[in-house]
Amino acid sequence: ETVLEAVELHKSFGETTALHGASVTVRAGEVLAVLGPSGSGKSTLLHCMAGILLPDAGTVSYRGIDLAALAGHRRSALRRDEFGFVFQFGQLVPELSCVENVALPLRLAGQRRKAAERIAREWLARLDVDTVAGKRPGEVSGGQGQRVAVARAMVTRPKVVFADEPTGALDSLNSERVLELLVAAARDTNAAVVLVTHETRVAAFSDRDITVRDGKVRQTEFSR
Ligand code: ADP
Ligand code: ADP
Repeated sequence: ETVLEAVELHKSFGETTALHGASVTVRAGEVLAVLGPSGSGKSTLLHCMAGILLPDAGTVSYRGIDLAALAGHRRSALRRDEFGFVFQFGQLVPELSCVENVALPLRLAGQRRKAAERIAREWLARLDVDTVAGKRPGEVSGGQGQRVAVARAMVTRPKVVFADEPTGALDSLNSERVLELLVAAARDTNAAVVLVTHETRVAAFSDRDITVRDGKVRQTEFSR
């Protein structure tokens, strides 16, 4: 079953063509790794697939809904309710504790503080960082911070998790562990993952790998 489909996306920034006919399909619950050289269009593809950026041409549909046809506030609501995000840096609110950060998406969805923080603590424990619950992001290590970010992305039980170089700032040991935890959390909740990464050992975690080159999806390397 297809959850997300991008067809023939084109996107330019001034003179720079970032996407030039990129197409990709994401199936329910699959872990899709997006590989390719720096500047090839991976982030732009992810941003278009997540409805953060609108393509100049081509369509992105989530469960048959054309994202470009939605009003901006409807697209934001869909992102909030159906998608989770993990980026490389700077996604945690520095003034809030880690548990408050993880609880934030639930608070924004209208949950009470106590209930939201209880669920947030369960996710911190699942990612093996319950000990940092009361600390601020500036007081935890890079690996702990990314686990908190994964907990925050998963707390609303998204259908699709978009991860753009989530381990780009970590050493290889931490990087592998965070990817492993992200993928395990996604598999437990049957979320699909679109994972942009340079991690060469990602094939150990993914169901399918695609390579972006010059703004196109060039190949499907394998499928399990
Ligand atoms: P990747 O994620 O593979 O490194 P990106 O999608 O970030 O590639 O970028 C693809 C191309 O588009 C690059 O040449 C990049 O500099 C350019 N680009 C991406 N976003 C912007 C932007 N907001 N403004 C201008 N150029 C951009
Ligand atoms: P990544 O490392 O994930 O490819 P980048 O550091 O290339 O991300 O880009 C981070 C942000 O800056 C993205 O939102 C991207 O769209 C934007 N960006 C990338 N290249 C440019 C550029 N040349 N000019 C302006 N914005 C850019």
